[in-house]
Amino acid sequence: MNKGFIFDIKRYAVHDGPGIRTTVFLKGCSLRCWWCHNPEGQLFEPELVYNMNRCRECKECIAICKEDALSWRKKLVINKGKCNLCGKCAENCASEALEIIGREMSVKEIIREIEKDRIFYEESNGGVTFSGGEPLSQPDFLKVILRECTKRKIHTVVDTCGYAPQKIIEDIYSFVNLFLYDIKIMNDEKHRKYTGVSNKIILENLKYLVKKGASIEVRLPIIPGINDDTNNINEIADFLSSLGRIKIISILPYHGAGSEKYTRLNRRYRMRNVKNVEKEKIQEIKEILEEYKFKVKIGG
Ligand code: SF4
Ligand code: SF4
Repeated sequence: MNKGFIFDIKRYAVHDGPGIRTTVFLKGCSLRCWWCHNPEGQLFEPELVYNMNRCRECKECIAICKEDALSWRKKLVINKGKCNLCGKCAENCASEALEIIGREMSVKEIIREIEKDRIFYEESNGGVTFSGGEPLSQPDFLKVILRECTKRKIHTVVDTCGYAPQKIIEDIYSFVNLFLYDIKIMNDEKHRKYTGVSNKIILENLKYLVKKGASIEVRLPIIPGINDDTNNINEIADFLSSLGRIKIISILPYHGAGSEKYTRLNRRYRMRNVKNVEKEKIQEIKEILEEYKFKVKIGG
């Protein structure tokens, strides 16, 4: 599997693992976390996105589209059944109101991008991070590219929600220098409600990685009113302590920075009225986790 769907490549990233990194965002995720700040990474395929606020209503895109996929009903309407994602409308829209999110890239092309910053990785002990979406949702492609990075002695990080069949984890873990592993909610019913899936596989996969001696930093997004209660924090800390080898937890305070993306994608953002987390709350959670002897970082 030498090709995969990518929706972004970010150079000089400093919050996605140690040192200076290139972060490659793979498309597709099975979770639907209410607070997701990368909703453009959720679908597995590329998509055409229309930003009404930028549109100057010239309607030139309608004339350009050979598939008759665009029409006008007070605003531009995309017929996804007809659109073949050729991108011609987006290329020609002077207002940049249309955009194709996601493109197919080969391992070779991505390696070329990654290699551009090798000198920075070497000077800062950085490397490459695979994020998403959920990188494990393109397992064959991820494995090939991780293996290639390992061959080239480039430090690899996989930033994951851990939701994947264990066989996939088994297949890739030996090519991963560090997992950034999200844990959100211990109560399974609540986990299903706020992410769309059970947490059972996620917790089992973390246990498996610990058993295999993988290097892991847990990431704990703190979402007001959803998982910031003392009960949940204590349950998470109890579980992680029981595993024995988890030393570092990064607290990621919720921020509503992704909300505008939902408007662009024409999707509902359920967190619209939720405020950012207060500093006092973060401090309180940090202190609880420190009582369990974890090293706690705030932010990535
Ligand atoms: S070409 Fe761009 S600005 Fe013009 S109608 Fe289409 S989306 Fe709007
Ligand atoms: S991406 Fe291509 S097929 Fe789809 S609406 Fe634009 S021009 Fe038409």
